[in-house]
Amino acid sequence: MTSAFPLARTAAPVPDDQRAAILAAPGFGLHFTDHMALAHWTPEAGWHDRKVQALEPFSLHPSAAVLHYAQEIFEGLKAYRRADGSIWLFRPEINARRFRRSAERMGLPPLSEEDFLESVEALVRADEAWVPEPTGEESLYLRPFMFAAEAFLGVRPARRVVYSVIACPAQPYFAYGGVTLWVSTSFTRAAVGGTGATKCGGNYGASLAAQAEAEQNGCDQVLYLDGAGENGCIEESGAMNLFLVTAQGDLVTPALGTILEGVTRNTALALASEFGLTPVERQVTFAELRAGIADGTVTEVFATGTAAVITPVTGIKGDGYAFSIGEGGPGKLALALRERVLDIQYGRVPDSYGWLRRVR
Ligand SMILES: *Cc1c(COP(=O)(O)O)cnc(C)c1O
Repeated sequence: MTSAFPLARTAAPVPDDQRAAILAAPGFGLHFTDHMALAHWTPEAGWHDRKVQALEPFSLHPSAAVLHYAQEIFEGLKAYRRADGSIWLFRPEINARRFRRSAERMGLPPLSEEDFLESVEALVRADEAWVPEPTGEESLYLRPFMFAAEAFLGVRPARRVVYSVIACPAQPYFAYGGVTLWVSTSFTRAAVGGTGATKCGGNYGASLAAQAEAEQNGCDQVLYLDGAGENGCIEESGAMNLFLVTAQGDLVTPALGTILEGVTRNTALALASEFGLTPVERQVTFAELRAGIADGTVTEVFATGTAAVITPVTGIKGDGYAFSIGEGGPGKLALALRERVLDIQYGRVPDSYGWLRRVR
C-alpha cells in the first residue's frame, strides 16, 4: 500500500555517530529527527500536498495569522520501541479525535483521523532509526500541529493552513521522585466557554507567567483552580491532569469541562480497578483536597500526561501554607500505576485493552 504521505528522503540525514550521541542522552524537545510530515489546506483544494520530507524551517509572511492571533493547535504522543525492535504507538486514535475537536474550536479545518494516523506513522517509519532502544523510558515524542499560515491581518479563520508533524527522541520529562505544585490564585487557565479543553498553543502562552510564579515559590508546576480560587474547585496542572487517591479506595479526578481530556487520564481511570480503586470523575473543591491531605483521607496525589506518564505529587504550596502529601515521598499507587502503564506501552505485558498500534 502506498502511503497518503509519500516520503522524499532527505539527502543530508544527521550522521550515524551524531544520532547515536543524541540518542544516548536525548533530553526532551532538544533534538529533532531528519524528517517532517506536511500537508496544506485551502478552502478551494481542501487538504492537499501531503508528504514526508527533510525537516526544514517554515517560510512565513510577517503578517501570517498564527503570529498575531494564535490560531494554532497541537498534539503530543510517543512511539515506543520494544525489545524485539518493533515500534508501536499508544492509543493514537484518541489523539486524532482530540486534534479534530481542537481544530473545530479554533476555526481550523479538521484533519481526518486517517490523515492524522497516516502522517504520524509515515514520519515514524521515515525516522525509525531515531526511536530509542528501550533501555530506560526513552521514546520518540511526536508533535503533530496545525497553524494559520495565511498572510493577512483581518480577524477571521485563515484560508491557508499548514499541518505538520515533527519528532524528537525523549527521556522521561520529570524525575520519578515526584513534583511539587504551586496553588496559583493570581492566574487561571480556563473558564467555561473558553479553550480549556482545547490543546492550543494560546493556552500555553498564557500559562508561562503562572509557571514562573510557581518556580519563584520553589515549586515545579502550577495547580490551577477555577475562577472561584481557593473557594472553588481544582482543575489541572497546565500540561497534566490531576488525580487523588482516597483512603476509602476511590481514584478521583476532576470532571471534564474546562480541563484537557488527557489520554493518560483516560488510561489511569481504565486501569483503576486493577488496583482495587473505583474511578470517579467529579468536581473536587480545593477545600476538600486541602482537608483530605491534612486528615489523611487523601492518601496520594499524582499527575498524568504523555510526557510525564504518571508523576507523583509530593507537596502542595500556596500563599501562606505548604503541606506534604502522605510521607512526602512518591505514592505507592502512583508508582505502581506508572509501572503498569509503561509495561503496557513497551509491550512487556499483554495488550489486553487493545491500546497499541504497530508501526514497524
Ligand atoms: C496534553 C495535555 C494534558 C495531558 O494529556 P495527555 O493526552 O495525557 O498527554 C493535560 N493537560 C493539558 C493542558 C494538556 O495540554
